Amino acid sequence: MLSEQDESRMEPEREAPCAPRVHTLRLSVTDRCNLRCRYCMPAEGVVKVGHHELLRLEELAGTARALAGRLAIERIKLTGGEPLVRKGLPAFVKMLSAISGVREVSLTTNGTPLPSG
Ligand code: SF4
Repeated sequence: MLSEQDESRMEPEREAPCAPRVHTLRLSVTDRCNLRCRYCMPAEGVVKVGHHELLRLEELAGTARALAGRLAIERIKLTGGEPLVRKGLPAFVKMLSAISGVREVSLTTNGTPLPSG
């Protein structure tokens, strides 16, 4: 039996290290862009990924849903290329916004596809 003094000298039980929590998921929805910035699109061009090689937006949403459930994802950031050139993006954003636990869906854009005024 341990005396009170012995117990006070014992180190508290250490918790097992937790798996890192990931709160933000970044998804690239396209490699295409309507601009040709020098540092991103070299003069010699880039090899574009064929449309048949890209995940469909429903598949991307399914992946996001699976990851959100496992990793407690709260934010999803969309990138490209230029994400606004991907067809069906508004419906895709709705799919992502409906995922349980996701509080924010945002995107990085050059803004040119947005209506002016
Ligand atoms: S993705 Fe961004 S950096 Fe690249 S060409 Fe388009 S606007 Fe420029």
